Amino acid sequence: MDEKLHILIVDDDIVDRMAIGRALRNTGLSISLVEATDCADAIKTLQEQSFDCAFLDYRLPDQDGLDLIRQLDELGIRVPLIVLTGQGDEQLAVEIMKAGASDYLAKSKVTPERLSQVLQNAVRLSRAERAAELANQQLRTTNEQLLRQNQELESQRQQIECQNKKLIEASKLKSQFLATISHELRTPMNAIMGFSQLLREQYPDPLTAQQLDMVSRILNNSQNLLVMLNEVLDFSKIEAGHLNLRVSDFDLVKLVQLTAEELRVLAIQKSLFLDLDIRLQNPEVHTDQDCIRRILMNLIGNGIKFTETGGVRITVQALENDTLEIGVQDTGVGIPSDYLTAIFQPFRQADQTLTRLHPGTGLGLAITKSLVEAIQGSITVDSQVNQGSTFWVQFPRRVSPP
Ligand code: ADP
Repeated sequence: MDEKLHILIVDDDIVDRMAIGRALRNTGLSISLVEATDCADAIKTLQEQSFDCAFLDYRLPDQDGLDLIRQLDELGIRVPLIVLTGQGDEQLAVEIMKAGASDYLAKSKVTPERLSQVLQNAVRLSRAERAAELANQQLRTTNEQLLRQNQELESQRQQIECQNKKLIEASKLKSQFLATISHELRTPMNAIMGFSQLLREQYPDPLTAQQLDMVSRILNNSQNLLVMLNEVLDFSKIEAGHLNLRVSDFDLVKLVQLTAEELRVLAIQKSLFLDLDIRLQNPEVHTDQDCIRRILMNLIGNGIKFTETGGVRITVQALENDTLEIGVQDTGVGIPSDYLTAIFQPFRQADQTLTRLHPGTGLGLAITKSLVEAIQGSITVDSQVNQGSTFWVQFPRRVSPP
């Protein structure tokens, strides 16, 4: 031990004090000594200064060593204590150790070597104890902090849970509202369309060219509106989990051809081509026909809607592991790359201004994605602004039972 040790010797006998002091100085350790002659003196000194160790004569004039140890403990004075006992005090020594002394030493066995050993052991032990206590204290503080943070986190979690519940409730209400409103709007829409169809057929009286043009416009716009209402209704049904698969065996190629024919008139109106490129040997599939029809309607419909020159090409082919792929490629406006990730989210449109060129609810691709997932497939998109977009739908030839 290199540093100077500050040591207290408590003994009423001056000869004994000198003997211990001499022995301590002969240990070769760097030491500074303070002396006390009785318990009261020792307590006062220990309260005033801090020591690395105290040597304590067991028999003191005012109290015995055991009482002093207890008193120091009560006062919270922590110092390694080495009790010096007389001949035959071994039993006492055990009591002293139990009370909290670091060590004991018979006065008759005091030698510099023995003192040095006992002293260094006591100091090391006391320092180790203090370090452990400090570490324990820090651990307790950290624990308390963690506990507090945990409580805060728990209360935040509860708040978030509560907000989540409210949001779910609000979202449910919104879906219900959308479902009701679109359902209710479809009835008058059907009446408008029915009557304008009758008028367009010039029933009951013939129309002038201008009247015919107006009626055709009413019918056209009503059809667009109905498509949008159906999208909103479909979306709210899907959100409410009401999408039930109806699986059957059918010819995929025929379905693609029929759906393309249904939409061909829209392509013709814009002078666009609508090509089919079928590379499927076996057209038989076992999946939900209506889902695939609606996926095709949405993707081909978008292709035509967002293309002004060129057209739309539909490819159908088989990949590995009985997976089929439908591609819908257009030569239209394309989709900005920073928008591509959001494209399948509901109500997201690349152009969200009210003056946008193309009408729509922003639900078509969200519905399409849900439909693709319902038939256990996946949908991806490649697109370049002003060059066009290609949507790829991959799905199993046979949908597995849920
Ligand atoms: P809507 O067509 O009703 O706006 P969709 O969900 O079908 O809604 O499409 C969302 C948005 O994705 C569209 O508004 C458009 O910005 C973009 N988009 C979809 N398909 C195409 C396409 N083929 N070409 C360019 N943009 C497209």
